[in-house]
Amino acid sequence: MRKFSIFSNYLVLFSILVGIILSGGIGYSFYQNETLAIESDFRRDVGDKAAALERELLINLEVLYAVKGLFNSSDDVTEGEFRRLASSFLVRHQNIQALEWIPRVSLDQREKYELQRRLLHPDFEFTEREFQGSMIRATERKEYFPVYYVEPMEGNEVAFGFDLASNPKREKILRKSRDLDLSLATASITLVQEISNQKGFLMFMPIYRGEPNTLIKRRDKLIGFVLGVYRIGDMFETAIKYTGAQGINLKLIDNTGVSAEQLYSNYSSDQVLHTTQFQLTYNKPLSRFGGRQWTLVATPTLGYIAERRSLLPFISSVFGILFVLLCGAYTYAIIRRSSLIKVEVEERTQDLNEAKLELEELSHTDGLTKIANRRKFDEQFEKEWQRAVRSNTSLSLIMIDIDNFKQFNDHYGHLAGDQCLRDVAKALKSNMSRNTDLIARYGGEEFVILLPNTNEPTLLADKCRMNIEKLHIPHEPSSVSEYVTISLGVISVAPTQNCDPFSFTAKADKLLYLAKDSGKNRVCIDERLILQKGDVIDFKAPKK
Ligand code: GH3
Ligand code: MG
Ligand code: MG
Repeated sequence: MRKFSIFSNYLVLFSILVGIILSGGIGYSFYQNETLAIESDFRRDVGDKAAALERELLINLEVLYAVKGLFNSSDDVTEGEFRRLASSFLVRHQNIQALEWIPRVSLDQREKYELQRRLLHPDFEFTEREFQGSMIRATERKEYFPVYYVEPMEGNEVAFGFDLASNPKREKILRKSRDLDLSLATASITLVQEISNQKGFLMFMPIYRGEPNTLIKRRDKLIGFVLGVYRIGDMFETAIKYTGAQGINLKLIDNTGVSAEQLYSNYSSDQVLHTTQFQLTYNKPLSRFGGRQWTLVATPTLGYIAERRSLLPFISSVFGILFVLLCGAYTYAIIRRSSLIKVEVEERTQDLNEAKLELEELSHTDGLTKIANRRKFDEQFEKEWQRAVRSNTSLSLIMIDIDNFKQFNDHYGHLAGDQCLRDVAKALKSNMSRNTDLIARYGGEEFVILLPNTNEPTLLADKCRMNIEKLHIPHEPSSVSEYVTISLGVISVAPTQNCDPFSFTAKADKLLYLAKDSGKNRVCIDERLILQKGDVIDFKAPKK
């Protein structure tokens, strides 16, 4: 019972543990699913921003095509024409820092070109940057690519007249652009005109006379380049301003070359620390443009993630655990209650069994003498008779009757008679030594002794007779002795199936009355053998 209760307690505890782990697991799986959903949202949002940025780049690139159209339509574009067209575009394309015309000028044309510009700008000359960084007059070279027209002039004065071919890197791009008839962008430059020092890039678009379709023709027919100076930060801001998702840290990287270069980022590096809790970085390469490969590197901010997280994982875990705990507590209470009831039932059953045994004992006991009663004798006799039949053993019976007891009662009164019955019963019982022997009150002043498998019942019978006499209970009116005496009938049999138990007890009774008739205070073994006081028991010869 106790073992069972401990086992149930462990079972409940184990179930609670399993329940808690399952609830936690469910919460965690919700959390994981949510994380996956956030990741996919995040990629889509970053994709939207990258697409917006690509669109913005293309829109700004279109401006170069428009200016190109001007040069294609006329062999001699004046500064006025150029600036009018350029300024009309710059109004609508605020992210372009400047538009410039870079003619191809051979050494022998240099002077002509310089003189022409000096009409309006007296200090004009082809310039280049010295080692120390200051601007000087461009040295002699075969070909020049000077900034000839600039719109707006204001803020771009330093660039005016600057020969792009003086810088080997720029010259390389110019050549490539010319050879491939391709608009090409430079790596990033720091725009000194800007207060924010934001980065920009230059984009060259080659202009040819006619439509040359071979490399040699292109080299020959090149007139110059239309040049756009673009503000990366502004373009970026314009592009992503109209995309929905907020709270994404974005970084624009130029990874055309071996080493990646950061062009722009919309957050400061301190903010990055706060986002590292959610390890998610998404690199979205933009489509190549102007020969460059830009990549948008995005990480979500805590705010972005927090906005998309729900309480579902937490609530499902907490409620699951609470539910499991409640069920566990309820089950524990039920188990405890049922075990208490079980204990109580067992205790009551034990009480009942004890009461039953007591009743049984009482129903088999004679109220006056406290020895077995007639009912007990009848049951026991029946059992022992069957046993003797089965085991082929003997069964002996001693019938006992107090002599002249009516006179005893009459003389000493019924109370004394009762006491006499008690004393005789006690004395008879003291002769019994084996558990299987039984003494019972047979009725009135008669007793019976049942002796299974006993060799010499006569010895015991005579011992009983002597013991009662030795009690010396005075019996004045007795015709036998001055003390109370008893008469006994003894019979033994090894019963078989055919024997009749009733004739056996009747025979014992008959022998008892033979003893009475023979003078009382004696033992009758059979019709011919009656023992009395002083007789030596000899079974061989019948006495009378
Ligand atoms: P006998 O020697 O032939 O047996 O004569 P008796 O007087 O003993 O036999 P009888 O059958 O004539 O009388 C039995 C008496 O036992 C009658 C009755 O008053 C008495 N007796 C029976 N049961 C009880 C009892 O429970 N208490 C008392 N005090 N007497 C009882
Ligand atoms: Mg009698
Ligand atoms: Mg009697």
